Amino acid sequence: MKKIYGQLYGYSTHKISTEVQVTPAGLQLVSPELSRSLSYAELTIRAAGTNDDAYVVSTPELGNASLVIEDERFLRALARVPTASIQAQLRTIKKKNSTFYQLIAAALVLIVSIGVGLLLMRDYLLKRAITHLPPSVDQMLAKAAEMRVNASTHHTDPATIRYFEHLITPIFPTSDQSPFKYQVHISKSKDKNAFAYPGGYIEITEGLILEADSSEEILGVLAHEIAHIEKRHSMHALAYQMGIGLSSALIFGDTSAYQILAQADRITSIHNTKDMEREADQGAVDLMAKHQISPAGIIRFFEKASEKLPKGSTQAMVILDFLSTHPSYPERLELFRAAQSKQNEAQSNELSKPLPSSKTFDLLTFKEMLQKN
Ligand SMILES: [Zn+2]
Repeated sequence: MKKIYGQLYGYSTHKISTEVQVTPAGLQLVSPELSRSLSYAELTIRAAGTNDDAYVVSTPELGNASLVIEDERFLRALARVPTASIQAQLRTIKKKNSTFYQLIAAALVLIVSIGVGLLLMRDYLLKRAITHLPPSVDQMLAKAAEMRVNASTHHTDPATIRYFEHLITPIFPTSDQSPFKYQVHISKSKDKNAFAYPGGYIEITEGLILEADSSEEILGVLAHEIAHIEKRHSMHALAYQMGIGLSSALIFGDTSAYQILAQADRITSIHNTKDMEREADQGAVDLMAKHQISPAGIIRFFEKASEKLPKGSTQAMVILDFLSTHPSYPERLELFRAAQSKQNEAQSNELSKPLPSSKTFDLLTFKEMLQKN
């Protein structure tokens, strides 16, 4: 068996290294400089060092000197010594040791659970944070989006805009229903899609309007975007992206959070979650029911879109919102079809009032206006 060594301090003018033999009769110190036997009767042992992994032995036999042993096997060897006072001291040391490791373990558990807890709480905290964020933040983002509107990328002809507003303004929440001021801009893109910025800014593509067979299709799409804005979905998605960036920066100390923050104005690249899309579809259903807009239009729109898209295609749908591929078309269609049959059943719903503009707005006229500009 490997020998156990200790250092004897205060015995001589210098520290003495010595072998320590644990025998049934007592401790034997064996070194070139000294050979001594220490009885167990008056021996005291205490744990020392930062981790309590050094054992300090003292006894009147050594006077003021103390023997320090940094070897765990010393304790194991002592465990075989029958002396009661030694056994009692060993129990105290072991208890102290186990308390130390229990504390370390508890601290580790705490650190890990705080980390896991933060991850679990993140969505909740972000949701709370957005709830307390004043609507003026959304409005600032809408303002920023509006600043980008120009004649080369958007339809700005006043007569065209007025004609379109005549159709859509009645479905916007009023100032006593919403903190947001709605504005819809038609981009000159040939894609068929729509997108909601926070704060009431909605963008719809010329391509979508030209593709529409009825004003109900356009109104259904806008109702979906209005629901996104009212529920502040883009704000949540934005905060979520920033939150992920920030927490990963905190954990890994990287700088990607700054890059994400720097890109925060690229809201169009933010994806709403599946739940947000469902919520927006449900919001659209409610808004359409309120204004007696038939879901037939939006159903038709989905049918056309799914016919034209190659299976599993996400082409052109990645950035803009309305035709995002989640939830699936069949699931979305099901919701709108159910709403349609409900609307058919309750034709004379007292709460709903038909949209006056739907009678005077002529889609073909409007399409011609768009194509002229
Ligand atoms: Zn959406």
